[in-house]
Amino acid sequence: MIVPRTRESRPKFKPFELGLSAPWLHRPPRRLPRPVHFNPREQALVERIKRLKKEAGSHSPSAWTLAKLIPELRLKVDACFLSNPYATNLFLMHLHREVIRPKKLRALLELYPSQNRVIAAKLGRVLDQSADSIFVGNGAIEIIQAVLHRFTRDKLLVNLPTFSAYYEFARPDTRVVFNHLRKEENFRFDPQRYLELVRRERPDTVVLINPNNPDGGYIPYATMLELLDELREVPNVIVDESFIHFATEGPGFAYASVADEVSRFPNLMVLKSMSKDFGIAGIRAGYAVMAPDRVRSLLDNGYLWNSSGLAEYFFDLYSRPDFQERYERERVRFIRNSRRFFAALARLPGMHVYPTHANFALVELQNGLSAEDLVWRMLVRRGIYTRTCDDKRGLEPGKFVRIAARNRPENAYIIRSLRRMLG
Ligand SMILES: *Cc1c(COP(=O)(O)O)cnc(C)c1O
Repeated sequence: MIVPRTRESRPKFKPFELGLSAPWLHRPPRRLPRPVHFNPREQALVERIKRLKKEAGSHSPSAWTLAKLIPELRLKVDACFLSNPYATNLFLMHLHREVIRPKKLRALLELYPSQNRVIAAKLGRVLDQSADSIFVGNGAIEIIQAVLHRFTRDKLLVNLPTFSAYYEFARPDTRVVFNHLRKEENFRFDPQRYLELVRRERPDTVVLINPNNPDGGYIPYATMLELLDELREVPNVIVDESFIHFATEGPGFAYASVADEVSRFPNLMVLKSMSKDFGIAGIRAGYAVMAPDRVRSLLDNGYLWNSSGLAEYFFDLYSRPDFQERYERERVRFIRNSRRFFAALARLPGMHVYPTHANFALVELQNGLSAEDLVWRMLVRRGIYTRTCDDKRGLEPGKFVRIAARNRPENAYIIRSLRRMLG
């Protein structure tokens, strides 16, 4: 389904169409950066951050955690979390006007939320899906766990690099095999090579994240349809569309989800987190569209009240045309700004920006500066939180940083700071 969401014309430039990797955009550094020398105060801060990060495992400590535990950091911009900040503002505006001010918060927090099926029914109306094919999750992460534990058997195929939950939360008796996306090919997904691997390995579950996290690579809608057709024999096909709202295709800023294909492909499960595109990770809202017998099988195992009052309020809001209209404006505004940001990133010397269709960019450092050097310097000296990808499987450690787009002034501040640091 390609929904023409707005009547706006195409943006003047699309970084990924220009090819961020074009050699002329990707000038060699004029001089090598000075080696990083932190003063003792900075060094002490870096050590504390490193400890926190270690405790957080393969996910980064949230900006809130950092700011609370290390107030001396003076955190200004969170470019680690991958959300649309304009959508967060919009949600907060509604929450304030409709819940906080009229004093309805108590009811949201005192009472149980509706049961899974009731929220699914509300969601079904706005998604144009039957209620019994929707499973509501306490964030998409809960659905990933549920699906991997309930449906996956002995072999799981995931692309690398990827969102780590897909291999970390597999059952101990599930073998995980990897399809390596190649750096030399800009981490582009190659359908032919992938299908060959599927035929050879015969996994019972495959995972496609579209656009992919952490590189932002996108599989076009038409290719997805062909893939689904070719993957008919695979018992479980997971498509994670948590970033699909940022990936436009077709006229204007339309985006294309494969959720409608679930009726044709009973092996397909389309997962969606609301955390990123609505900027509400704290309320834990996600859902999946899948065959009704799969939903039933999951609900037989629990998940009765796995939402929350706030998540239910969000889903109610999400179902309203007035909210949809306002959200749409914020989505388009954010995409426009993000594209300008990625183009500006690509013009900086000493780093390579991989083509992205999401709201973040994977950056490879080229002038000898290590990912940690850059990330800690940005954090300690400029208050900008970005993510090293040193812990991401499938990426050479020490070289990759993931930077999220934020609002316009924040993006400008990130660019200014990077320019200064990269010399
Ligand atoms: C962040 C993320 C999730 C988890 O989202 P929650 O809804 O916050 O649990 C799932 N999949 C991908 C690809 C993500 O990046």
